Amino acid sequence: MADRNIPITGGCHCGAIRYEASSPPTTGGLCHCRDCQRSTGSAFEALAMFPQDEFVFIKGKPKLYRPSAIMEKYFCPNCGSQLTDRYLVPVSTELHPNMVWVHIGTLDDPEIAPIEDHYGVESQLSWVKFDDGLPRVRCDEDPELAAAFASSEAGEE
Ligand SMILES: [Zn+2]
Ligand SMILES: [Zn+2]
Repeated sequence: MADRNIPITGGCHCGAIRYEASSPPTTGGLCHCRDCQRSTGSAFEALAMFPQDEFVFIKGKPKLYRPSAIMEKYFCPNCGSQLTDRYLVPVSTELHPNMVWVHIGTLDDPEIAPIEDHYGVESQLSWVKFDDGLPRVRCDEDPELAAAFASSEAGEE
């Protein structure tokens, strides 16, 4: 494991947006779901979780995008790099408003982020092969997440 210098820093591709975290990531994972594929334009999304109150944007003003009533994403309005995802309602201890998921590729040292599971594996592309033995979860196997999305959709007019 690479050493974890605090604060942990990162930012977007063009340098307009910078952030820092005052504690190391608590966990991380890969999400293969269709939403993450579409929003990143990639095969999967790699995310590291930080406590929201230890994470701050220190340069520039990222743009907010709300893909659903229960999630917010921030990205650079100039270069388009996606920076963070955060749930707006408590779904679980990991998917909670007091946690922010940072896109690992935007970290200055992406190696500091631990990867501990695969999510959304029902949409994992056939040519994406991992031999890491990590837990694999389908989105529809997570009843708390399914309930959160269902209630957010019910609340939308
Ligand atoms: Zn940028
Ligand atoms: Zn996803």
